[in-house]
Amino acid sequence: MTSPDTSKNPPAVLVWFRDDLRVADHPALDSAARKGLPVAALFVLDEESPGLRPLGGAARWWLAGSLRALGEGLAQRGVTLVLRRGGAATVVPEVAAAAGATTVAWNRRYEPAAATIDRTVEAALARQGVAVETFQASLLAEPEALRTKSGKPFAVFTPFLRAVLAGPSPRAPLPAPGPMQGVEGLASDALDDWALEPQRPDWAGGLRETWTRGEAAAQARLSEFVEDGLAGYADKRDRPDLPHTSRLSPRLRFGELSPFQVFSAAALAREAPPGRRPSDTDVDKFVAELVWREFSWHLLAAHPDIATANIQEKFDAFPWRDDPAALSAWQRGETGYPIVDAGMRELWTTGWMHNRVRMVAASFLVKHLLTDWRAGERWFQDTLVDADAASNPASWQWVAGSGADAAPYFRIFNPVLQGRKFDPAGDYVRQFVPALRSLPAPAVHAPFAARPLDLAAAGVTLGKTYPAPVVDLEAGRERALDALARSRRPHQK
Ligand SMILES: Cc1cc2nc3c(=O)[nH]c(=O)nc-3n(C[C@H](O)[C@H](O)[C@H](O)COP(=O)(O)OP(=O)(O)OC[C@H]3O[C@@H](n4cnc5c(N)ncnc54)[C@H](O)[C@@H]3O)c2cc1C
Repeated sequence: MTSPDTSKNPPAVLVWFRDDLRVADHPALDSAARKGLPVAALFVLDEESPGLRPLGGAARWWLAGSLRALGEGLAQRGVTLVLRRGGAATVVPEVAAAAGATTVAWNRRYEPAAATIDRTVEAALARQGVAVETFQASLLAEPEALRTKSGKPFAVFTPFLRAVLAGPSPRAPLPAPGPMQGVEGLASDALDDWALEPQRPDWAGGLRETWTRGEAAAQARLSEFVEDGLAGYADKRDRPDLPHTSRLSPRLRFGELSPFQVFSAAALAREAPPGRRPSDTDVDKFVAELVWREFSWHLLAAHPDIATANIQEKFDAFPWRDDPAALSAWQRGETGYPIVDAGMRELWTTGWMHNRVRMVAASFLVKHLLTDWRAGERWFQDTLVDADAASNPASWQWVAGSGADAAPYFRIFNPVLQGRKFDPAGDYVRQFVPALRSLPAPAVHAPFAARPLDLAAAGVTLGKTYPAPVVDLEAGRERALDALARSRRPHQK
């Protein structure tokens, strides 16, 4: 093990970036800058350490843009972002030694396997005589900090929310540091060599059209949402046809923004001039959604195998069907149910899906198609730009009924009624399922029940221009309820 070489140069500080790809409100970078020592910055693409869930394709695409922007943000301040591929337990001590770092600083992360790696890195650095400083940055409430009165992790959202709100107010966000002295001459990979963005085939065209990645775009989106989207959030957040959710999820996922910045911007909006001020209900609802994110991480800490094991063990005996054709129809957005298909096509094209539609599409898979929630979770993990280790599996278990505080399995969304309620004019469906563009509402949500004349006038031929339903809604519902009943009577056929 090499010790830091401080014979020629002054000691330096190494900042290890992970899911916090920003320069503002970055406590580890802020602390390094304040020391007045040379600063080195490192990102490790770790595909070797055991237990880490590999990034999905859409998330890899996002990561590339985020890293490019972070590299620019750091370079403007005199610091070069070093990119290295390999196991963090080897790479971080190596780069620390090469940089002559006497301190390595990072913001804490909460995926159990990642936290284990961090402890290993810390031990290796200690053996090199390098100090480690860690900070809270990615969650308002760290998973271990909150406990029920009986000292257990929370399993129900509302008391968790109450506990978060009763706790200390989230700190004010830190400004980005000014110019720093960087450490020169450290070996770095080239970002393009990591091939994070798809080439052949290049399926990312829709993602590029939809998103601008990086910290500056994230901050611009936060301001825009707080000014134009937050007022009305409580009433309109369930409408996929309206621009009333923040679309900040991939920004929070990669830490282009911190939850402290988002919380603070929402809190400040309460003081906006009348006329532009969101109601308290709007802000409270938005903060509650941010706390759902916190709750997911809290659940992951309590259930490290949340992506693979039912939180409620009684679901272990659930008779899921293995139907690759049905799964594939769902993945491709060809179920014959327009709100589900629009959502799945939005996901494939843009890497994101509206929350209400995520719930309807997920429910359709696990209930009407009786497919194991883990298959859906894996598809979302690969295709969502905001896929993370906590919110994705926790939300899937919530929809499936197997999670903590989950919607009961017997509550089965009817995709036609959901579509008519939340996309009343059918505009969302028309945007992502162009074959149905000319069908009038409400037929656009149930083309299989439309009058032949309406279908003909709209140029729709079921089974040709748009699929016939993969399952009859009532039959699928009955089959799901029957499966639930059978799973509760495991000894009977
Ligand atoms: C089956 C399913 C899978 C999901 N997978 C993910 C995932 O992988 N990553 C992810 O970030 N969210 C996931 N969600 C939660 C939610 O759908 C997204 O966070 C939300 O749609 C993001 O859009 P937004 O930024 O416009 O949200 P907004 O309504 O503007 O909310 C603001 C922020 O709060 C957080 N948030 C909102 N709702 C939730 C929620 N229900 N659970 C956790 N955090 C929430 C997000 O960070 C979001 O950016 C999933 C939901 C379902 C039903």
